[in-house]
Amino acid sequence: MNPLKHWLAPTCRSRAPILRQLPSQSIFLTFDDGPCPELTPLLLELLSELKVRATFFVVAKTAAKYPALLQRILSDGHALGSHSLDHRYGAFFSSEGVLQTWIQESFDLLHSLVPKTEMVGFRPPAGVVTPPLRRVLSEMKIPLILWNRRSYDAVWGLSQARALRHAKQWRPGDIVLLHDRQRLRHQKDFVNSVHSMIQNAQKNGLSFLPLSTDLTWQ
Ligand SMILES: [Zn+2]
Repeated sequence: MNPLKHWLAPTCRSRAPILRQLPSQSIFLTFDDGPCPELTPLLLELLSELKVRATFFVVAKTAAKYPALLQRILSDGHALGSHSLDHRYGAFFSSEGVLQTWIQESFDLLHSLVPKTEMVGFRPPAGVVTPPLRRVLSEMKIPLILWNRRSYDAVWGLSQARALRHAKQWRPGDIVLLHDRQRLRHQKDFVNSVHSMIQNAQKNGLSFLPLSTDLTWQ
């Protein structure tokens, strides 16, 4: 099986990053839209309990409000990436210069919060990928990281039953999209569902790794 076919969302297949090495049976959990002062700590506790390391694609301006959470994500051994400066879409309809500045500002802000931390790449809000975005990221030498498994958890929440159906499809090399920002009424179920998904995957011999630039490059 070619692990690359699991690596990218369909919109990104035309220019596949090279997967230099894939430790066998490993998959990558990624959490977007945080950090969230209520949910992120619960999730970090769970991941620590289950000895799972993941990747957090944070919104830089949100991270600036909760620098201690950002530090905790790193000290727990997780990886960080940029999920843009402010999760807005205006830059996609502007010039490449504006797009580049918007992306650079997100990394500058994150680096001001956690200096010398390697960021694994950029994940655009809602996975919007345009030709200018590809060009700009390529010029900036920043990996574009999407996903190939999603459950629409930020829209519908994540029930145990749906979570398990979802997790049964996981295969080595998968990048799983989840969100550590959920509606308040969904948060408890979400944490329980992530717990079940991880336990199910571990029972089936899968392990979890954070993304790193050693694994991906275009
Ligand atoms: Zn998002």
